[in-house]
Amino acid sequence: MKAILIIGDGMADRPIKELNYKTPLETAKKPTLNKIAKTGICGLIDPIAPGIVPGSDVATLSLLGYDATKVYAGRGALEALGFGIEVSSNDVAFRCNFGTVDKNFVVLDRRAGRIDTASATKLAQSLQKTAKKFPTAKILFKNTVQHRGILRLRGKGLSSMISSTDPAKIGQKTLQATPLNKTPEAAKTARIVNELMQLFHETLKKHPVNKEREKKGLPPANIVLCRGAGTLPNIEPLTQRYGIRAAVVAAMPLVKGVCKVAGMDLLPVKGASGTYETNFIEKAKATVKALESYDFILTHVKATDVASHDEKFTLKIKMIEKLDGMVNHIMKNINNEETLIAVTADHTTSCETGNHEADPVPVILAGPGVRTDDVKEFSERACAKGGLHRIRGMDLMPIMLNLLGKSIKFGA
Ligand SMILES: [Zn+2]
Repeated sequence: MKAILIIGDGMADRPIKELNYKTPLETAKKPTLNKIAKTGICGLIDPIAPGIVPGSDVATLSLLGYDATKVYAGRGALEALGFGIEVSSNDVAFRCNFGTVDKNFVVLDRRAGRIDTASATKLAQSLQKTAKKFPTAKILFKNTVQHRGILRLRGKGLSSMISSTDPAKIGQKTLQATPLNKTPEAAKTARIVNELMQLFHETLKKHPVNKEREKKGLPPANIVLCRGAGTLPNIEPLTQRYGIRAAVVAAMPLVKGVCKVAGMDLLPVKGASGTYETNFIEKAKATVKALESYDFILTHVKATDVASHDEKFTLKIKMIEKLDGMVNHIMKNINNEETLIAVTADHTTSCETGNHEADPVPVILAGPGVRTDDVKEFSERACAKGGLHRIRGMDLMPIMLNLLGKSIKFGA
């Protein structure tokens, strides 16, 4: 038997006045998800614990069976991995933005006018040349999409326990990275980052790409802002832990990074973009195909979360309906007698606040051997009455592995 876990990012929500105090999930037409709810068992999940607002990284770690409160070591390294940048156990990686500062280092634009990827690539290549001369650590700087990039530090005695240089607000001065504990490693890493930021600024401010941008009246990308210092979480890959072959179908680098650490293969999908335009059917096809070679597949959809952060509940409903269509395509093309299917969200994202919230998320689980309950609908309200009751994110994987016959016996 094999298993598919479908995660609608930020899919759970709160009641919305304009929807007659229903949630987008309750309002959406979702015949496939309701059918799974009807034939399987339902419940609620606290991604980490009641009242804790989770980020997508810790929530995904948790849904893969890890205790994120123990193993999480920052976002930077996970995101780097998701972009295909190799990270080893002593490296420290950061998420970066090209930004614009004035001569007093006051941030005028945190995204340098959302600089195009081609220009950012030229800047990053020059920064990489500058970084080669850096004496105390091996530096890798790589731009990803538009103004975004990754900085990786490699060397002896580094630490991720340092603060960010990004003030996260325009009109404020860039920050100095400071150690967050009293170790010499944190002090050394903060010093490296501060020196490097200065060096990068010197290279960027005289760069031809920026001279050209200024001529056109565009904000120059003259600073690199660093945040989310992280190292690899120290975890046993679930592929080893349970002896399964596992893969992920996703567009979002952060989710791909988490899955990579968990030992899963990253499957390329045509048209998977992490946006409203993502190709849901290609994702379904990739999932069905992956089932031929893997025991466990995680299929992740980001668009539901994007709509929530944009505070667009009508669009969120549409994305949930597309996700339902994706699941329908999967269910029609797999052997339902031999496949366990679970659908949930990694966290609640409220269309009203535009933020992640701590409210628990609904979960449905169906397949051979699964007990049923009386719930007939996949929604926050309906699943609260389900037979799985209320579990933690990290409980889902053991429950699924037990049904797969892969659970490890505790005791004699
Ligand atoms: Zn998320």
